[in-house]
Amino acid sequence: MSDTPRTVLGDSPSFPPSDAFRARANVADPGVYAEAAADPVGFWEGWARRLDWAEPWHTALEWEPPFAKWFVGGRLNACFNCVDRHVEAGLGDKVALIGEGEPGDVRRFTYAQVRDEVSRIGNALKALGVGKGDRVCVYMPMVPELPMVMLACARIGAAHSVVFGGFSAESLHERINDAGAKVLVTADGGWRRGGVVELKRIADEALALGCPTVERVLVYERVGSALGAPGPQSTAGTPEYDQGVWVEGRDVRWADLVPSQSVDCPCEPMDSEALLFILYTSGSTGKPKGIVHTTGGYLTQTYATTQWVFDLKPDDVYWCTADCGWVTGHSYVVYGPMANGVTQVVYEGSPDTPDKDRFWRTVEKHGVTILYTAPTAIRTFMKWGDEYTERCDLSSLRLLGSVGEPINPEAWLWYHRVIGGERCPVVDTWWQTETGAIMVTPLPGITATKPGSATQPFPGIRTAVFDETGRDVTPIHGAMGFVACAAGGEAPATGPAVTGILAVTQPWPSMLRGIWGDPARYRQVYWSRLPGAYFPGDGTRVDEDGYFWLLGRIDDVMLVSGHNISTMEVESALVDHPAVAEAAVIGRAHEIKGQAIAAFVILRAGFAPGPETEAAIKAHVAHKIGAIARPDDLVVCAELPKTRSGKIMRRLLRDVAEGRALGDTTTLADPGVVATLKDKYESAEG
Ligand code: ATP
Ligand code: MG
Repeated sequence: MSDTPRTVLGDSPSFPPSDAFRARANVADPGVYAEAAADPVGFWEGWARRLDWAEPWHTALEWEPPFAKWFVGGRLNACFNCVDRHVEAGLGDKVALIGEGEPGDVRRFTYAQVRDEVSRIGNALKALGVGKGDRVCVYMPMVPELPMVMLACARIGAAHSVVFGGFSAESLHERINDAGAKVLVTADGGWRRGGVVELKRIADEALALGCPTVERVLVYERVGSALGAPGPQSTAGTPEYDQGVWVEGRDVRWADLVPSQSVDCPCEPMDSEALLFILYTSGSTGKPKGIVHTTGGYLTQTYATTQWVFDLKPDDVYWCTADCGWVTGHSYVVYGPMANGVTQVVYEGSPDTPDKDRFWRTVEKHGVTILYTAPTAIRTFMKWGDEYTERCDLSSLRLLGSVGEPINPEAWLWYHRVIGGERCPVVDTWWQTETGAIMVTPLPGITATKPGSATQPFPGIRTAVFDETGRDVTPIHGAMGFVACAAGGEAPATGPAVTGILAVTQPWPSMLRGIWGDPARYRQVYWSRLPGAYFPGDGTRVDEDGYFWLLGRIDDVMLVSGHNISTMEVESALVDHPAVAEAAVIGRAHEIKGQAIAAFVILRAGFAPGPETEAAIKAHVAHKIGAIARPDDLVVCAELPKTRSGKIMRRLLRDVAEGRALGDTTTLADPGVVATLKDKYESAEG
């Protein structure tokens, strides 16, 4: 097969951990992989024992496929583990949350203060009728009160369902009703790009569409002048905004209820398998699913992965830029980091307010040591140019993380060089709402990273690559050989590289327990495609060293003249061209080839569109991968259609390229973007 496309993935050298990093790393012995593989359940029990349980479990794992129960019979409280136990251990004065508001206001909360505030919120929720097992919908800006409301729910045994503050009234309405929420916690508004997101007004609209289960609405005053009473963070120059309509008897001011509550609010000991939260997936592929997570297993895996993947130390200042409206904000702002007693930054607003250096100013201001963000943000920073990073002192950083989409090698290398000063390990972490916690990732003190590869399953996790017929074709399991070799050990084991479907072949503690209210869909979506294994929906390559390269969604794979070509590979080749900042490719129907590649690209600052640039970019792809991957169409655009969490929605680009009416756009951040693209594409065609 002489014309088999080669790959741009794996072109760059690998990056072994530095001796200095390894010497201080939380885990530096590659032996942990073999140990965990020999007894995965025992490995996870070891982590669970490091949490605080009101009652121990009698059975670590009950596995009746596809239903798993972890730490059965055990009782614990997630909030106690994230807050109270640190206070009891003498860390009450340690700063837990540094709330950086978009207008520049900073509020710090120590663990003792968090315990008191969370207790007050817990009592306030009880006063509004919330009890064990009830669902509370949370629609708030990314201020410290958001994680505290989540923890307050956990404290009293209620489940939260957080809806990202950028969602529309219809989306909020749908999620409130699906979860059957009894109380809605919202805010007057939140700051975004110097303006106000009118959360209360949108919440009112959502409720007006009919939410029969909602009894009370608790309204936090963030923007300050809402409801006629200036709040504590009132900022000079607040613009006019719509505060919604106050409904007496339904709506309750935070200031009228929370501060007067007692700080005595016992942590309810919860069953290990008690519902902790429902969270809707980000909706890249279609209708969002209400993913169900429970307490003991979820907390165990988020706790373990935070400690090892981010190499968390007591004096770190950690910053995960995700909003609590996404699973990353649940697992790597609230539960994992706080179970570890971290000090962290919680930032409310956008990365370009007041200027495009806001992230780097924030790193400098708070001395951030660990930064966890998304490829979409990284590619945006690349597009803006290095002047914004160069003017800030980023020397406090010691580790960088990425999550949410495949990270193109070019973006990885930029992140490593420009943000990390070539001294910070980069951990590219693959996981999803459904997995609850990180699944495939480097361990920064052990793994030699390869730009663009999420590398290896975390110890105690088993992933594999399956072919179309549902056969496990994983060439070798584990890259311990490679890892050990990088550390000066024996020669690595190798096997032939394979491309196929990613699978998880044994249950893991933080796995989803179902889709809320739809057990049939749970089986059908995740457990019917691969025999005996979990189907995440993503494609992967496993290279000679056993490293996993996540290639994007199976549904997005293109079939060009009989060759499977992944979007990730072509996009990485495009972004590899100096003129290209960001790219999305899709396969559109083609009479002869089956599918032809259509590429949508955003140019970097300083490059102009035109036939020459476009031809050069196409030629670059052909040069990097092979003529077969040369895009037939190339459209230069200003924006790509993305979900509100920043992921490219290729499904809509296929609609554009095939001249169809646009499919569901409700999870899109800016519906105007696809309409503009459609016009542009059609005029280029004509
Ligand atoms: P929906 O399931 O509703 O379409 P979604 O899959 O975007 O939405 P999430 O659970 O937020 O919702 O995202 C998980 C997905 O993101 C993964 O299945 C994968 O496709 C992608 N992803 C996350 N991290 C990585 C990574 N490090 N490398 C490659 N892909 C990643
Ligand atoms: Mg998904």
